[in-house]
Amino acid sequence: MKHLTLWATRGLAREAVGKVRLSFTEGLVGLAAREKRAVVTQRASQHPAYRYFPETGEERFVSLMAAPLIVREAPIGVLVVQTTEERAFDQSESELLQTCAQLIAPVVMNARLLDLVTRSEDQRARVVADLALSGVPLMDEKPAAVRRCDLQGIATSPGIAIGPVYRLEDPLDISAVDYTPNADPAGEAADLQRALEAARSELDDVREEVAERFGPEFGAVFNTHIQILEDHGFVSRLERAVAATGNAREALRTVLAAYRETFDKIEDVYFRERALDLEDVARRVMGNLLGVRHRNVPLSEGSIVVAEHILPAHFALLETEKLAGIVSEHGGATSHGALFARSLEIPAVTGVSGVLEAARPGEIAIVDGASGRVHLSPDARLRSEYERAQHRYEVAVEHLDALKGRPAETRDGHRVLLTANVGLLNDLRLIERHGAEGVGLFRTELLALAHRGFPEEEEQERLYDRVARAMAPRPVTIRTLDLGGDKALPLADVEPEENPQLGWRSIRLMLSHEPAFRAQLRAILRASAAGNVRCLLPLVSSVDELRRVKEILADLMQELTKQEIAFDAGMPVGIMIEVPSAALIASSLARECDFFSIGTNDLTQYTLAVDRGNERVADLYEPLHPAVLLLIDRSVRAAASCGIPISVCGEMASSPLAVPLLVGLGLDELSGSPSAVPVMKEIVRALDRGEVAEDARRALRASTAREVRALAASRLRKAGLLEHPEIGGWLRATVEAAERAE
Ligand code: PEP
Ligand code: MG
Repeated sequence: MKHLTLWATRGLAREAVGKVRLSFTEGLVGLAAREKRAVVTQRASQHPAYRYFPETGEERFVSLMAAPLIVREAPIGVLVVQTTEERAFDQSESELLQTCAQLIAPVVMNARLLDLVTRSEDQRARVVADLALSGVPLMDEKPAAVRRCDLQGIATSPGIAIGPVYRLEDPLDISAVDYTPNADPAGEAADLQRALEAARSELDDVREEVAERFGPEFGAVFNTHIQILEDHGFVSRLERAVAATGNAREALRTVLAAYRETFDKIEDVYFRERALDLEDVARRVMGNLLGVRHRNVPLSEGSIVVAEHILPAHFALLETEKLAGIVSEHGGATSHGALFARSLEIPAVTGVSGVLEAARPGEIAIVDGASGRVHLSPDARLRSEYERAQHRYEVAVEHLDALKGRPAETRDGHRVLLTANVGLLNDLRLIERHGAEGVGLFRTELLALAHRGFPEEEEQERLYDRVARAMAPRPVTIRTLDLGGDKALPLADVEPEENPQLGWRSIRLMLSHEPAFRAQLRAILRASAAGNVRCLLPLVSSVDELRRVKEILADLMQELTKQEIAFDAGMPVGIMIEVPSAALIASSLARECDFFSIGTNDLTQYTLAVDRGNERVADLYEPLHPAVLLLIDRSVRAAASCGIPISVCGEMASSPLAVPLLVGLGLDELSGSPSAVPVMKEIVRALDRGEVAEDARRALRASTAREVRALAASRLRKAGLLEHPEIGGWLRATVEAAERAE
């Protein structure tokens, strides 16, 4: 978000200079900058955009004129005239002010450029980023207009972000850092001791911060690191090494190398992986020796982080409040890092091939999380287009959230349940904000990934119970552990597989780790005492799997009854339809379970044989492919004939083009990302059930995804959604993109 600062004044309070800051979306001055036009008003306080800054003492002024200072089409400031007496400024006065602004703008810019020379290197970097933020990217090499670089990746988390690039490089390399030891060996040993203590207290802080920000289960990621620092063997080896070498960096390096050598020989993946934690800890200690706080990556406000992958660990490392957007070279929209980005509502694009090579620190980037486009060093025209779109998006979300009380009901009165997919306690906040009607999918893997192993029953029970109680009486669908594939857990007996997506994952893995599976099912059953819990089984591909889980559940129910532990004996047990075989035998499955939830992310992957995380085949990944729709239709019919409810909980449920077709196909519930719920609701409310049912029938007869997209686009158009005051603009962009692809 761009800001304006009060830099000079006659008439306003002098103490406010340099302190009063407002964003481009605030006040009449922000309006002048944002719309790059003069703003003239006789009674400023009655203007809808008026915002009062008490620190300035501006209450004594009545009328106002503001003209933007524009350089190379970028607003770099605003010139303001206010009067204590009410007066109507005439046209010639407003033109005069604009002429003054035109003359002053280059003077202001030159002064700021000259300022660069007098500053230190890092102040300079900040000023450059600041200037870039006002639309004047100053690159060491080619000018912005020549440099502009447009890249395409996978749309991962919606929203638009504009800001300076921060490259998330490899962490501190202990062998390569520049380090000068103390001349006195005793001093060096003391420094190492201090660094170890500082690292320990840093880890405590990080654990607490992450637990607070994302939920206690996430803080647990750092327990392993703390254990290492508390490990007597590790610490005493370091102490011996520093005594021998008189160099703490060398001590860290040799101890780490010795551990690495040992760990490399271990066949067991789980223990081998522990070496990574050790390295992480050693780097943190190194950072403290160098006086670098490891935990806070020094982001400037509104940064766009460019990294190789989006990893859950990044969210512990980065100050997320300063993080405007994320771009990654690799990965897809459904990785856990991506889920994090969505949960925090940070626009993100993944799988942007070439971005690591192209992006330079401090240059301005635009991240369009809805279309998957990334622009580096955009020209002023493109940038102002995006700024307008960003503003529209923010206003639209605000307006839609304000309308969240309205029911998700088609024009002809058909009700659709709109729920949300979540995986963190933090997400419940988003459910409230965006008005979802329950949790359609609670992903439980994050807890296991945080622990790097199966979590205890008690800990799971606490988490599920909190979610269930917070949401009651709204439904909460808890999915059992869906590990393996892209969510690999370093388990002792899990070896790398040739085809992990077709391998020992999800329900298959859990059925062969029965004690861990029983612990989770017991935790879910105990949480079901709240009365609103449903249990969902992922990746079911045969009736046998379902039967086996039901046997275990029946056994656990008996156990709980004997132990007099409360649970809901009628807790619905459902399966995910995400493998073609499940859709094909949906009638048999429907007879033996209580609900279906279609995981279109995996169903698309397995139906089309397209790895959902592989950017090389991302263009073939198409949930609107008629083959996927035929399997959805088959599942809906099977559910209807057995009278069980059916939902879609894949990303498809959040896609504006898919919503009309899914309603037309007869889905009872759509579970999307929380921030998508208001848009899904606006779409549902504009539809007529009969019309979309006819579209769905035609889509099922289509030969290509292109035809399906055209049908869906035309429905959004006919439903008048492209003229919708809040979401019309970007729905139009979606529809036009779909139509362009014809
Ligand atoms: C899916 O496959 O559509 C789904 C919702 O599950 P996940 O994305 O967690 O695999
Ligand atoms: Mg899935």
